[in-house]
Amino acid sequence: MNTLRPLMKVLAPNPRTAFGAVLLATVLGVPGSPVPASAQGEVNLYSYRQPFLIQPLLDAFTAKTGIAVNVVFAPKGVLERLKAEGANSPADAVLTVDIGRLHDMVEAGVLRPVESPTLRMNIPAQYRHPEGLWFGLTTRARVFYVSKDRVAPGTISSYEDLARPDLKGRVCIRSGKHDYNVSLIASVIADRGLDEARAWLTGVRANLARKPQGNDRAQAKAIYESLCDVAVANTYYMAAMVTNESEPEQKKWAAATRIVFPNSDGRGTHVNVSGAAVTKSAKNVDNAVRLIEFLSEDFAQELYAETNYEYPVKVGVALHPLVESWGTFKADSVNLTEVAKRRAAASRLVDVVGFDFGGGGS
Ligand code: FE
Repeated sequence: MNTLRPLMKVLAPNPRTAFGAVLLATVLGVPGSPVPASAQGEVNLYSYRQPFLIQPLLDAFTAKTGIAVNVVFAPKGVLERLKAEGANSPADAVLTVDIGRLHDMVEAGVLRPVESPTLRMNIPAQYRHPEGLWFGLTTRARVFYVSKDRVAPGTISSYEDLARPDLKGRVCIRSGKHDYNVSLIASVIADRGLDEARAWLTGVRANLARKPQGNDRAQAKAIYESLCDVAVANTYYMAAMVTNESEPEQKKWAAATRIVFPNSDGRGTHVNVSGAAVTKSAKNVDNAVRLIEFLSEDFAQELYAETNYEYPVKVGVALHPLVESWGTFKADSVNLTEVAKRRAAASRLVDVVGFDFGGGGS
């Protein structure tokens, strides 16, 4: 008995619209959710990740195992819901993006440790929690988009370079408080310490071409418009712009820029994950683990990563040709738990240096 899934299928075509978001929020807010709390052969999933990314994978899992997946797609509010539901939560597993969200769930005590030789084998140690509280499934690198015309190869090669005086007025980035940048800054703190990170971030602020604003794609647009020459953004947005048929002007933004993988000669490029976890309240623990294991295997890894132009966590899995075209890179090998622990300090640092007020002639 599954009343949620048909509803979600109705909603699925417009997950990004405000209307869809309101409906999803309404579904999340319904007390006594129709998701069955416990049933043989089922697993109940809360997902931040959008239907187009994961529904094909969930269908493949059900086809292979006979285990039905009841999924609630939710753009926000999953942690709050898990906390509010407590031990009565019907959720067995969670799919989300960003180490920050995974870490917040760890801190809130809503996850349970999983011991799985399959997951240990398939997922490199840096992309999973040391005690099995969460598992990364795809990675995305936080790279530079640089102007093809105005930035010669080799001009900028490290995050540290962003603070170099000769880049004054040439750097664009979204808000320092955004999850992606908080994690990046936390990775700098993990490597260089707080004092060096503060000096660095102050230097980056001094180089901003404009007040931090917009999303990652907006930084490529700014390079296209000659507002700046160097930007910081996640890898998959480049492919999303190159292939964007509904907003083809984004192809021009992408064409004006190229990707540079920072710190290839040093600690490596900062990467973040999308990941999965089993909830503390899970009633279908074995099925939840089986689902996450399925998502870590070759078939799902390839499909999951290429659908959103991300990198598989499992070594040796094929990349989408566009992703492959950017070349290989060295990823920062720090365990993301170490990055997550420094996110609070990173967020404070953004405030201390007034990062989001930089670039405005102030
Ligand atoms: Fe994103």
